Amino acid sequence: MYTVCSIIAYKGYRDAAPLIVKALSRMEYRGYDSVGIATAHNNSTIMVKKGVGNVGYVNSRLNLDRMHGRVGIGHTRWATHGVVSDINAHPHVSCDGRIAVVHNGIVENYAALKYALASEGHVFRSDTDSEVIAHLLEDAFTEPQSDEEEMLGKLVNVLNLLNGSYSFVALVSNGMLVGARYHEPLIIGLTNPSKDDGDDGGDDSILYADECFIASDVLAFIEYTDKAVFLADGEAFLVRYADASKQRVMVKIFDRNGNVTNKEITQIAWEFADVDKGRFAHYTLKEIHEQRYTIGKAFNASDDRLRELINVLINADRIIVTGSGSSYHAALIAKHLFSKLCMLACDAIVASEFIYSIDTYANNAGKPLLIAISQSGETADVLNAVRIARGKNFRIASIVNAPLSTLARESDIYLSINAGPEIGVAATKSFTAQMALLYRMSIEASRSNGMNPLTLDIGSSNIYVDKILGMEAYISDLAESIKNVNSIYIIAKGIHHVIALEGALKLKELAYVHAEGIHAGELKHGPLALIDGKSIVIALNPMDDTYSDVLASIHEAKARGACIIGVSDSRCNMYDFTLEIPRVDRLLYPLYEVIPLQLLAYHMALKRDCNPDYPRNIAKSVTVK
Ligand code: GLU
Repeated sequence: MYTVCSIIAYKGYRDAAPLIVKALSRMEYRGYDSVGIATAHNNSTIMVKKGVGNVGYVNSRLNLDRMHGRVGIGHTRWATHGVVSDINAHPHVSCDGRIAVVHNGIVENYAALKYALASEGHVFRSDTDSEVIAHLLEDAFTEPQSDEEEMLGKLVNVLNLLNGSYSFVALVSNGMLVGARYHEPLIIGLTNPSKDDGDDGGDDSILYADECFIASDVLAFIEYTDKAVFLADGEAFLVRYADASKQRVMVKIFDRNGNVTNKEITQIAWEFADVDKGRFAHYTLKEIHEQRYTIGKAFNASDDRLRELINVLINADRIIVTGSGSSYHAALIAKHLFSKLCMLACDAIVASEFIYSIDTYANNAGKPLLIAISQSGETADVLNAVRIARGKNFRIASIVNAPLSTLARESDIYLSINAGPEIGVAATKSFTAQMALLYRMSIEASRSNGMNPLTLDIGSSNIYVDKILGMEAYISDLAESIKNVNSIYIIAKGIHHVIALEGALKLKELAYVHAEGIHAGELKHGPLALIDGKSIVIALNPMDDTYSDVLASIHEAKARGACIIGVSDSRCNMYDFTLEIPRVDRLLYPLYEVIPLQLLAYHMALKRDCNPDYPRNIAKSVTVK
């Protein structure tokens, strides 16, 4: 099991708390229910403040950013074990107050560990699984000043006791930070890093820096440094001041056996720093608008990796595409495009269902290929599918937006959609960028397969997207007039059905409206029973070979009194409202017909007083299985 939420830790020459509060706000898009910070002041006492609510609220109530100390840890929790409460918020502190811990993930064997620790006299304050880590470390580090090598060994012993998934950082009252990651992300950011401290003969495997950040996401520290070290699964670390002057910190990273490992310092693309809303009211709206160039950028991916992937693709005996949520919809698009455009048979399996279907495919000898799609590259269900497929001899290719993500690292080949950070929880530009890249792959594969190369004109995508964005005021009025509806049915045929599913997902996520994507031909086989004078039916009805069949279904719904919203490049008197899409190559309609649906969902969210950037109960980076 894996979870969501965020960790940030800091050690350096500045006050930690204000940096931590800011970093937690930067990572708010990941979703959470409570917030907490611990700092250590003058290397002696640990102070903890935590509570339920968002970062701004808890900070204004508890003055988190005024806590003292140049070392600290912060956390936003997404509860898995124990209710959402002030006490269950992280950090959790050991009985003696010497150790505070923030944890992402689930300690699966926490009940047994808790029982054993409690019978030794440890007193637990929360109902979380995470608290066992604080007590285990308390037992391990009996002396706060204990020798560093000894601490390493003891930390490894604690790691060996934990089952499940974790990334955690512990603040020890002597000012050290220790922690580890396993199946949850954790990245170390370093300002002004070097591999030795200036002395000749320095140890290459020890990192020195002015400041050290440890976070679930590079967004937490990108404004301070673009130099990072990516921890691998199972790796642990220890951070302390390099010497008594406290001007530099020292970071030691080691593997599960306690051997210090020599890590590369990675330069992170500055593109990640573009995380402001600019003139837009919400990130979601900004990201919908960014599609005017993200589609083209993803389509124009041109590098050796693309060629390599096409080569693997056309030579694979079996192709499976997987993803979750919108990325699963992109997987369904891949299935349509690969079979239609380049005669490659392929199946799409939703990542959380992967384990139940994979055996059928794995029995095929040869060279099976799994293409895994994930915006964040950290989606637990997708990573899980990848690990299962790897065990069954699949080659793994991935399509990600975060090239430094776990998924990219665990793949044989990855391609990036290059869409820049997507902060709005609901996928918008990442979905169209995934589609654009899949179009490109299909074109290249058809060419390599010796078929007539397709000429799809994506060069004008910015003009087409602009045209659709020009309808925003109309869509906002439409949202106002249908805002009290209970259900929306989106009907479509063929590849457009995938967009019906995606549009319905946007309406659910952003506007909390029940919405369903339905194969137009299936309306008469059941759903029509629900249609009456209060129903809203959106019909995806571009001028292609699905047009007349969809029109027949529109007649059926209209005859029962439904209000019809047509998404089409052709006007029709059956529509009560028309969301006009550009007339493009008929294969390209899906790329554009999703955009009016995104805008409708966004504006319905506003009319229904929902925050489109942070929908309730869901998180951007769903690292929970
Ligand atoms: N399992 C822990 C809890 O419920 C951590 C959850 C998280 O990753 O935020 O407190």
